Amino acid sequence: MSPLIHHITSDETLPQSADVVVIGGGIIGASAAYFLARRGISVALLEKGYVGCEQSSRNWGWCRRQNRDAREMPVANLAMRLWDEMTAEIGQDLGFRRCGLTYATTNPKQLADWDKWRPVARQFDVATRMMTAEETAAVVPAAGGRKWVGGVHAANDGKAEPALAAPRIAEGARKHGATIHQNCAARGLDITNGRVSGVITEKGPIRTGAVLCAAGAWASAFMRMHAISVPLANVRQTSLRTAPAPDFGAAVFTSDFAMTRRLDGGYTIAISGRATLEITPQAIRHAKPFLPMFMKRLSAVEVGIGRSFFEGPDSMRSWKLDRPTPFEQFRVLDPAPSKRTLATIMSRLHIRFPTVADAGVVSTWGGYIDSTPDSVPVISPVDSIGGMFIAAGCSGHGFGTGPGFGHLAADLVAGGATCADPNPYRLSRFSDRSRIDVGDF
Ligand SMILES: Cc1cc2nc3c(=O)[nH]c(=O)nc-3n(C[C@H](O)[C@H](O)[C@H](O)COP(=O)(O)OP(=O)(O)OC[C@H]3O[C@@H](n4cnc5c(N)ncnc54)[C@H](O)[C@@H]3O)c2cc1C
Repeated sequence: MSPLIHHITSDETLPQSADVVVIGGGIIGASAAYFLARRGISVALLEKGYVGCEQSSRNWGWCRRQNRDAREMPVANLAMRLWDEMTAEIGQDLGFRRCGLTYATTNPKQLADWDKWRPVARQFDVATRMMTAEETAAVVPAAGGRKWVGGVHAANDGKAEPALAAPRIAEGARKHGATIHQNCAARGLDITNGRVSGVITEKGPIRTGAVLCAAGAWASAFMRMHAISVPLANVRQTSLRTAPAPDFGAAVFTSDFAMTRRLDGGYTIAISGRATLEITPQAIRHAKPFLPMFMKRLSAVEVGIGRSFFEGPDSMRSWKLDRPTPFEQFRVLDPAPSKRTLATIMSRLHIRFPTVADAGVVSTWGGYIDSTPDSVPVISPVDSIGGMFIAAGCSGHGFGTGPGFGHLAADLVAGGATCADPNPYRLSRFSDRSRIDVGDF
């Protein structure tokens, strides 16, 4: 079953031309379209399914600076400000609340890692406070004899509502003149003399001089058709949603699972870092740069082989631009949740927070996360194709930073000054012999 989502209408007439075509209506594509349109640039936003249908509605909603890689911090700080500004400008609730994030652990090493992050907090002015075992027990009162060794509280971080954010931001882009085309897959690019000259969609061509590929888990497959290598690995995560339940905090990470209270009073629950990596042609193609990360995170990752070996974004299928493509075959990537993970969550929930378990599960879902070898996104021009840009690879933490990375992508496409230094996010870091550092979290 899919997660909750706020559906929006499409502009049914495809424009013949646009200054910029954005491919992908997730939080990144919607935000980029918003910031481009706000500058008076004409934008067509293409979404093969419906806006927000993939990762951007399947996540927990955390808008987090706590424990973030320092390379992302300037954009994470900007994003926190943009959530407030966009809510006010668009005039719609995106569900953003600075509710604070609370972390509790039974693992002394994890606690020490959180403590080690404090210099980053100081450098980027994040209000964060380590908690003793007693303080943690007072704010995260798990039952069943759980003894936390300690925790951390990030007072000004928060959450937004995955069901609302991307669709409402896309509607905000439309108020500034962007057109939105759902059920409209981009099949490929028209390239003339080494520059983008158009996008071929399933509903016809659009002439344009600039394209932003914000296609999430599909970005690598889309770019491969144009001989551009984007090393992304798609890992599958599992979540469930409860009916409205007693309040145990708005956003709580524990050693058992993470719980996020939605606006409807129910919880979205998932096990942090627990994921399935399917061995697929794309995974094999990009295996080498990912080895350091997989060695580091191996204990939390289940490895398997499934349908995605043969079909979907990770297969090596090619397609023709005048026939239906895999983007149309998989309008919405809706992978099955892991039954094992769901059973683990429920058995832990019954012990730790029985009244939340008693509220009942309303739905369960899987979601693919597009990860890069260093867990830092790619927000970058594509050097070998003039007018082509990519914004993908948010590595499981791009919802909260989505407005910030969308803004940066819009700045790169528009040219001129950028809201943050784009250098750490350049695509060429994977091919120019730069050192690839896997982040700590
Ligand atoms: C279970 C889970 C929990 C997470 N928790 C958090 C969290 O708490 N906080 C956080 O910050 N991040 C979290 N994330 C990560 C976050 O959801 C993503 O980083 C973010 O949503 C990525 O946004 P996106 O716009 O890049 O991709 P997506 O939301 O996947 O959007 C890409 C869109 O492109 C469309 N598309 C693809 N190809 C084409 C094409 N050819 N033509 C037209 N459209 C196309 C797709 O249909 C899709 O809608 C989580 C992710 C998961 C799965």
